[in-house]
Amino acid sequence: MSALTLLNPADGTVLRELPADDAVSVGAKIAAARAAQPAWAARPFAERRAILTRFRDLLIERKDTLALTTTAETGKPVRQARNEIAATPARVDFFLEHTAALLAPRLMHRQPDGGVPGAAALEEVVTFDPLGVIANISAWNYPWFVGTNVIVPALLCGNAVIYKPSEHATLTGLAIAGLLHEAGVPDDVFVPVIGAGETGAALLEHPLDGIFFTGSYATGVKVAAAAARHLAPVQLELGGKDAAYVTDEVDAAAVAGAVADGAFYNAGQSCCAVERVYVHADVYDAFVEAFVDAVKGFAIGAPTDEGTYIGPLCREPQLAVLQAQVDDALQKGATLRCGGRRADRGGWYFEPTVLTDVDHTMAVMRDESFGPIIGIEKVADDAEAVARMNDTPYGLTAAVYGRDRTRAARILERMNTGTVYWNCCDRVSPNLPWSGRGHSGVGATLSLEGIRAFLRPRAWHLRAP
Ligand code: NAD
Repeated sequence: MSALTLLNPADGTVLRELPADDAVSVGAKIAAARAAQPAWAARPFAERRAILTRFRDLLIERKDTLALTTTAETGKPVRQARNEIAATPARVDFFLEHTAALLAPRLMHRQPDGGVPGAAALEEVVTFDPLGVIANISAWNYPWFVGTNVIVPALLCGNAVIYKPSEHATLTGLAIAGLLHEAGVPDDVFVPVIGAGETGAALLEHPLDGIFFTGSYATGVKVAAAAARHLAPVQLELGGKDAAYVTDEVDAAAVAGAVADGAFYNAGQSCCAVERVYVHADVYDAFVEAFVDAVKGFAIGAPTDEGTYIGPLCREPQLAVLQAQVDDALQKGATLRCGGRRADRGGWYFEPTVLTDVDHTMAVMRDESFGPIIGIEKVADDAEAVARMNDTPYGLTAAVYGRDRTRAARILERMNTGTVYWNCCDRVSPNLPWSGRGHSGVGATLSLEGIRAFLRPRAWHLRAP
């Protein structure tokens, strides 16, 4: 086994050294899960539900200490880490409430007389089996949300889960495993696999019954290629370049704070963070002024401080990505309204950055930034806003701010995104499918779709003798 070094983004110091899984240990874990899965699936649903309910209760009970673990390794401000964990039980509840109905057999057709004289009675029934042994390769930015989106419905449906947390959220991943095992999930039914990209790649060398991935587009393409070798069903929750459009109908100064929060929460390291803002010319100046004021007011600080709103980036190399986007924009004529460089303090901090006079030749308006940096562009009308918003290979979310719901709906129905928002942004609900289009992914988590993804149908043609 090789070693995995965990670093603290707040100061770059070593947090822990852990043994990492390799091809051999991964193979052994998958074999053990394959042996254990049928017994897990055979348990009455009520038992699995009771175990996942205990997991949910443990989350609530341990929230404060768990948040400190996530903060230490990801740099997420502790209040935001606590908020994430506190909001996770609501997602678990959705799955606890809705899974049983989807597991129930469905009688689709019955002909008491067999349809033709003399023929035996016929029934056509669908039942639902778990996929079997699935892999969940996960991201670090919302490890509780994106982990439980997959793990909980997968287990409730009777699957075994091989879970590879991000190398940047390994301790959180081990904490999730610890809570599940304490709640009663057998060790071989939920199995953490520890390591970075090469461990993920080693995992995908094996035949698996489903691959559920959350991460970047670049890695998603590799995961899809690996899944194709075994024809494993694959679900990809990937990045975004999410746009918000502020129409001329709103008090732009009043909505600027909400849009800024959608862009800068978790230092912009959210898949659905607002990454581009288009503002109607009539309210542009007022919006920019209020937006920059809001951003300048964000408290930057140690992620362990309760008052901190912007902490360090999780990964050091992302500092160079953000600097390159700023430099590229400025060289092409953008105006820097605030920030623009690495913050003058230890750790991997980047100053909250606002650029205006941007256009789509600039990387900051095209490539996922995944950091505290945003471009704001002026548009003349709705048609121009729609064209700009759709000018991206990504398709995760799009938001419109305005008073007229009909006008907003006309714009939003033209978005090629899995999620659309009216007067809100950067929001996820367990009731609704979370899905990306284009480079933002394939398949959906959450909602009833996000439960069905862990089941495969069996068609029964039943003719009485
Ligand atoms: P990443 O792609 O760098 O890593 C994701 C996971 O893939 C990690 O566990 C990593 O170890 C693993 N991995 C890396 N190379 C691999 C390979 N060749 N084979 C198998 N596994 C491999 O992404 P990240 O930095 O952890 O997360 C940030 C990205 O995730 C952003 O693009 C963000 O937008 C996206 N994201 C999307 C959603 C969503 O729901 N759509 C949610 C959270 C994050």
